[in-house]
Formats: sequence, structure tokens, C-alpha cells
Amino acid sequence: MAFLVQKFGGTSVGDLDRIRNVAAKVKAARDQGHRIVVVVSAMGGETNRLVDLARSVNPQPLPREMDVLLATGEQVSIALLAIALDTLGCPARSYTGAQVRITTNNAHTKARITNIDKDPIMADLAAGKVVVVAGFQGISDDGNITTLGRGGSDTTAVALASALGADECQIFTDVEGVYTSDPRVVPEARLLNEITHEEMLELASLGAKVLQIRAVEFASKYNVPLRVLSTFVEGEGTHIIPEEQLMEQPLISGVAFNRDEAKITICGVPDKPGIAFSVLGPIAEANIEVDMIVQNVSADDKTDMTFTVHRNDFDTAMTLLEKTARDMDAEEVTGDNRIAKISLVGVGMRSHAGIASKMFETLAAESINIQMISTSEIKISVVVDEKYMELGVRALHAAFGLNESAAQA
Ligand code: ASP
Ligand code: MG
Repeated sequence: MAFLVQKFGGTSVGDLDRIRNVAAKVKAARDQGHRIVVVVSAMGGETNRLVDLARSVNPQPLPREMDVLLATGEQVSIALLAIALDTLGCPARSYTGAQVRITTNNAHTKARITNIDKDPIMADLAAGKVVVVAGFQGISDDGNITTLGRGGSDTTAVALASALGADECQIFTDVEGVYTSDPRVVPEARLLNEITHEEMLELASLGAKVLQIRAVEFASKYNVPLRVLSTFVEGEGTHIIPEEQLMEQPLISGVAFNRDEAKITICGVPDKPGIAFSVLGPIAEANIEVDMIVQNVSADDKTDMTFTVHRNDFDTAMTLLEKTARDMDAEEVTGDNRIAKISLVGVGMRSHAGIASKMFETLAAESINIQMISTSEIKISVVVDEKYMELGVRALHAAFGLNESAAQA
């Protein structure tokens, strides 16, 4: 008998049949004796529809009003699910974020949860009810409705699981779990049985969009056992757990990639203290996030610096940097927005040397030129020409034994 938080995303509650399907799943779990708190998203497409409505009235809607509007999406799905559960003879009660008192700060449209009042939920559970909570929303101390940022229902689920001390937070979605790579690019990609929080965090931030990054950060920080599984296909899904609990220890868990970045280089900058700050200061001030940074000093006491930004920020960053270059007397600014980043992720890297060289060897064998490299304890990323991304990802997936179904040595 477990205590579970089960979260169902927009696709899972996309229409009435699907809501009935979710109700049947929840009821089945409750009939097995589990205590269940359900978190739901708005019906698929609804949040976008509401955003569009607001923007047609005003391209820059007031954040406070945006939250009042967007929170309605989840309110519809909790009520419909509670009605569907009741119809199946499963007692249930729905609550908005404000009602269960998920308190947040007052950063409208991107609020952070500060507290969750567990007593009302525990009382309902003790009375044998299923508790259905609206994802993505809360209430600020001054009584305003807030939302947690797009995809925020995942965060609600993880935060509830943590606050209530649930045994597991199950994220039901439209894929069967987390894969070794994107099956659309690598047909041999396999479903992972388990992965660590840290690996998931790297994969999520690299564009594997199964889980909201903030939810994974939260789960990692508070050691919440998470599982991603399909609403539509029976299966074990992928367990996202603390490293100590891993059963297998593959070298590499996944090959991730993204095409969202662009690269900018400033050449021939006089090499003296403060250079990096002069180059990146204006970029940071414009709220542009920088990902990889490479700096190198050449023989003539000049330095080159290359960094990557999100593709959407490419033009702004180029303009800013061209100004900086004139101020600093640099030789030249160049940019390339046709790059891709490929990353190997795996906690096994910590205890194995030679992963990077094997990665470079594999790419070289395919004649793929590496433009930038960056590493962390459990990740190695390279930037390549976007033309070669798919080839590189497939080659690495094969080279690191991820095509085979058995765990590699
Ligand atoms: N409904 C919200 C969104 O579409 C929250 C969520 O689905 O997690 O972003
Ligand atoms: Mg969603």
C-alpha cells in the first residue's frame, strides 16, 4: 500500500474520453489500496488558447490578470476528473491551488512555491477520498492567484509529493518514459528503466522535454522518487532516483542534442584583466543566457572568445557584441546560428577515464568537425555543424553500446 502522487498532463486529459480513462486508472490504483493525490494539467491546448485570447486583447497582458486567466484551464480539468471519479463510484474532491493552499511568492506567471498546507489533503485521504489538485497554480501571500510557468504542473506534483512525504511521484504522459536518445532521430533508442535525478536534469536542460526542468531540480534537491510513464500504454516507465539507488551503472545513459543554440566569436581582443566581463557583461545585462564559453590566448597577447546563446537571442547578442568590439578595439565579431550541440550524459563518467576521447574518436571517424567542447562531471558536450547532428548522435549512440538492449560493460 503506497502513498502516490499521480500527475496527468494535458494530452492525458485532452478530452472527456481521456478524462474517463484517467479516472479509471486512478480508481484502479485506489482499489489496490493506495492513497492517491492526483495533479492535473489543463486539457491539451487549453493554456495556449487562453494565452492567445489574452494577447489578442493586448500583446502584453498584465501578469496578474494572465494568472487569473490561465489558472482556469486547470480548474476545468480538476472538476471534470473529480466528477468522472465520482461517477465510477470513487469518492474524490477537487481543489484549486489556492484552496489547498499552495502558497507562492508573488512573481506572477513564474511564481515559486513557498509552502504547502498538508492538513486538508491528509484529512481527505484519511477519509478514503482521492484528492485532485490543480497543477501549475498557487496563491501569493497577498491573496492573488499565481501560476508557476509553462509546464508547471510537474512542479506542483513534485512539490506535493515532497511536502506530503509520498512514496513516489508518478508523471503520466504521452511517452513511455525517458529514452537513451530521441527515437525520432535514433530509431534504436531504448527506454531506460532508471536514471538518476542528476542525469535527468542534464537531459531535461538539453531539450529532452519529458519533464519540466524545475520539477526535476526540485525532485533532485529533495530526493523525491519520480517516475515517468505512459497514460496510454501499460509499462513500468522510467524511475528517476537518487544515485545510491541505481541498480545498473551504465557508462552513458543517453545522448542528447539540441539545435536551439547559436555561436558567437569575438577575435583579437587585447588580453588584459576584465576582458571576459567586458564581453559578457552587456550580454548578461540584456538578460541573455550564455551556455558554453571558450577563451583562448594567442601568441600576440590577444585573446579570442567564443560563446553560445539561444538562437532567439542571436541577433540581439551580435548587435551588442559588435558595439563592445568597437569599444574594445577588437579585430572582428563572427557568428553562426547553424550549429548543434550533442551531449553524452552519464554518472558512470565519474569513474571512467577515456569517455571524451572515445567520443572525439567516434566523431572523427564520421569526419565531423568539433567546434567547441565543454564538460561537467557527468556530461560532455560538443558543438558541431547542424548538418551533422543526426549522424553524430547515431554514431555516438552506437559507439557507447546504447543500441544493444543489454546494459553495456
Ligand atoms: N497547463 C500549463 C501549461 O500548458 C501547465 C502544465 O501543463 O504543466 O503550461
Ligand atoms: Mg504540460
